[in-house]
Amino acid sequence: MTTTPPAPAAPSQVGVGPLWAEAFLDAVAAAVGSHRTRLEATRGMPHTAYTGQLDTSRPGHLLCSVTLPGAPKARTTIVVGALTETQWDDVAAAVLGHPEILGAVQTGRVHPDLLEAGNTAGHPVLPPDFSFDCTAHPAAATGPGGFFCQHAAVLAHALASRIRQQPAALLALRGCSLGRLQAKVSSARLSATAPRPCPAVAAPDPTAAGNLVPRPSSGIARKPGAAPPPGSTAAALLFQQSQEPGQAAEELALPAMPVLPSPVPAVSPGLAAIVADGAARARAVLRSRTIEVGLNALTDAVRHLATPRGAPLAEAVAERLGRPPAEIRRLVVAYRHGGPAGVQAADALTKADPASVAAAAAAITAAQPTARGSLTAEGNALSAGGAQVRLGSDGRWHPFVAVHGGSWQPVAGASTESATAFRAARTARLSAPR
Ligand SMILES: [Zn+2]
Repeated sequence: MTTTPPAPAAPSQVGVGPLWAEAFLDAVAAAVGSHRTRLEATRGMPHTAYTGQLDTSRPGHLLCSVTLPGAPKARTTIVVGALTETQWDDVAAAVLGHPEILGAVQTGRVHPDLLEAGNTAGHPVLPPDFSFDCTAHPAAATGPGGFFCQHAAVLAHALASRIRQQPAALLALRGCSLGRLQAKVSSARLSATAPRPCPAVAAPDPTAAGNLVPRPSSGIARKPGAAPPPGSTAAALLFQQSQEPGQAAEELALPAMPVLPSPVPAVSPGLAAIVADGAARARAVLRSRTIEVGLNALTDAVRHLATPRGAPLAEAVAERLGRPPAEIRRLVVAYRHGGPAGVQAADALTKADPASVAAAAAAITAAQPTARGSLTAEGNALSAGGAQVRLGSDGRWHPFVAVHGGSWQPVAGASTESATAFRAARTARLSAPR
């Protein structure tokens, strides 16, 4: 199947699309790590002019030709993996417990809360993992997972545009069209009315290091490693995230168990988000990925807000921290551009070694003679003409631009070279709308 051009979104879908598109881009940014700057750099490009038809005929794969100005045509693929039929059946069954989501799906609409893995039996609709393949940048030459090249970045934006107009495209990419989900929900409704034994489930090895096995949160005795009861969102997330992909369900199947009584109460969305974040970080450690540790409360909160699960909590977190939401959003931008050190640099000016600042100022005026005379130093910051760089705790200079209202907005391009970072700030300043 090749996807058809998007139809105009139904009025009730306006709002879901932009939300899902941003969540999708956030997930890409989180997956590509330091290459997220490439995603930012291509944000303003005319993506649909550079991309051909988006081909999603293979579940979990988006294939498309990408032609960038002055470069040969590339065939680029974004691989996100698809949920299995069984997992989609679980999603359909879980939707029955959420009347608003159920109402939306039954009337052929997506609901924003479908992106909460706690509402979809722990199977995330938003892809947790990405890999990339590009004929112009063969993966063999660039390591496992492929290289997040400019083609892949442009394609990610083109897909985000599609999701913005047709959020259900994200479901299709993950292996189930909205129509099929609707059918699955209908059949789950029918079978939910008849008593039946619990299906056999994949069980994590409770003795394996780092496996998070939820404790029963009600008086119901459950075997260690058995699936949590429906409705127990945090437990379901922990359970799901303790599974390694590819673990064969059949291999670990448990004997059928009696039907469990009514579900235990669901935890609050905030607590579920914290539990899911902790589990995601634990999973990253188990996969030998680098995670940021030793962050202070503000930086850790901002780090969480920069994830797809944390993003909806920005207002609530701002209130808890006693800071204006706009300031918190600015720190999230700083995190995306510069990591924890970017947040600290954006939060406040700090003291800095005067010799380092003087050397940095000399490097900037050598590279940009027009900055000479207008360059001012304050603490760890050097500013001229609405552009600024601040020395961060990571030894890099973080670029900022002056914005309306007298604050400094973080921009991409942190560098150990002050002149490089200053050039990034100047470029951002010159291209910003006045
Ligand atoms: Zn490429």
